[in-house]
Amino acid sequence: WSDALTRALPLLHTLESLGHESVFVGGCVRDTIMGRTLKDVDIATAASPEQVIAAFPHTIPTGLQHGTITVVHERITYEVTTFRTESAYEKFRRPAQVQFVKSLDEDLLRRDFTINSMAMRSDGSIYDPFGGQRDLREGVLRCVGDPDARLQEDALRIVRAVRFAASFDLRIAVQTWRAIMRHKHLLAHIAMERIGLEFDKMIGGSDPARAAAYLAVSGLLKHTKEPLPQLMVESAEQYKLAHEEASLQAAGNSRNALVQTMTRLESDEDRWAALCMALRLDQGQADELFARLRYATARSKQLKAVIGLHTALQVGFQLDETGRRKWIRLLLQYGKQAAQQWLRIGTAIPELVSAEAGMSNAILEKLYAWLEAVPASSIRELAVKGTDLLAISKQPSGPWLGGLLNELLHAAAAGEIPNDKQSLLRAAEAAMLHNPRSE
Ligand code: ATP
Ligand code: MG
Repeated sequence: WSDALTRALPLLHTLESLGHESVFVGGCVRDTIMGRTLKDVDIATAASPEQVIAAFPHTIPTGLQHGTITVVHERITYEVTTFRTESAYEKFRRPAQVQFVKSLDEDLLRRDFTINSMAMRSDGSIYDPFGGQRDLREGVLRCVGDPDARLQEDALRIVRAVRFAASFDLRIAVQTWRAIMRHKHLLAHIAMERIGLEFDKMIGGSDPARAAAYLAVSGLLKHTKEPLPQLMVESAEQYKLAHEEASLQAAGNSRNALVQTMTRLESDEDRWAALCMALRLDQGQADELFARLRYATARSKQLKAVIGLHTALQVGFQLDETGRRKWIRLLLQYGKQAAQQWLRIGTAIPELVSAEAGMSNAILEKLYAWLEAVPASSIRELAVKGTDLLAISKQPSGPWLGGLLNELLHAAAAGEIPNDKQSLLRAAEAAMLHNPRSE
């Protein structure tokens, strides 16, 4: 019993006291058996969505038509889903319709893999009709039921198979693997958003390099609705090798050594950036990749900034005044956040930054120090505002204002002018006199 399950136990008790069979289900049961920390606790119940809403004081009808109600209990949210089957899968995608059922068995039958189709009752007993515990023990990822049928129902399961195999260090069962290879073209029917969500979980998982190897070796990346050539990391030779049936199972074990270093980084964003650096993607390719995976614009912007900075630093670096000025110019161009991210990645994975540019630890430390010493790295941090400059100028506002602020920022960042209001105003006045601007 983990704390997370203990905290969720009252929900099972409440539903049971009303006569509704209820269990913990899916990832939380799997992770409990594996001794991993739980991400979230999901509950499956015979109660109808209306009965779930009636049973708890604080609920949110998150996915009412699919039977999922979010229950808030002691400030933690739980997804409580009515036992259901799925039918009428539309074009190899998840179903348009679900039917609520009374039996747990039917609910477990619709789930993707044996390790995800286990339930845990409130007394701690495990209900495991498909041998999920045995598969976990033996290190096997296996579809529930007939793999051909299951992957055809919802082709996203192909990508999920890779994610679970890589994250939990499992071999993909032979029949499941063959079905993946037979039906991989069906990935073309899956929305890129769903693929993107799975990819984020892969990159954040325990072995993204293994996931990448599986993806490359299986050729899956060529079959998504929008192909992802940016991520094909394995060599052609490994690819050919893996196509011989005997070595298919070994596919996931071939790793790109550089890609493997990603796990030294904590955040998904750092890992994605490091991956793009390892694969030598340029700004445009990285941007395209994130666009295809439907990631938020803010994420693309940050990725583009750090890749842009990385590219700009590829030419090498001198630890002199010229180097310092160049670093500060890049810092202002790409932003402090990108510079910090690049330093974090370079410190964790020296291989990534030292190869071409010859960045040593000493250089990275110096860059850190210079970064910390910069008094202002954005116009927001400047001790004068646009309105201050307008007040002392005789001009109406115009594009010159942004230009002047930018000049002041560069001077302040490089330490030529102190970042205080008086000094900056004086410099601004001098600049206006020297270089009068007009509309
Ligand atoms: P994680 O810990 O990464 O969230 P998870 O197993 O909880 O892993 P989810 O995507 O959150 O994965 O799904 C919860 C459960 O729902 C799964 O364990 C599985 O039983 C079922 N499930 C999710 N997606 C599918 C799918 N495409 N087909 C069949 N069953 C699925
Ligand atoms: Mg989950």
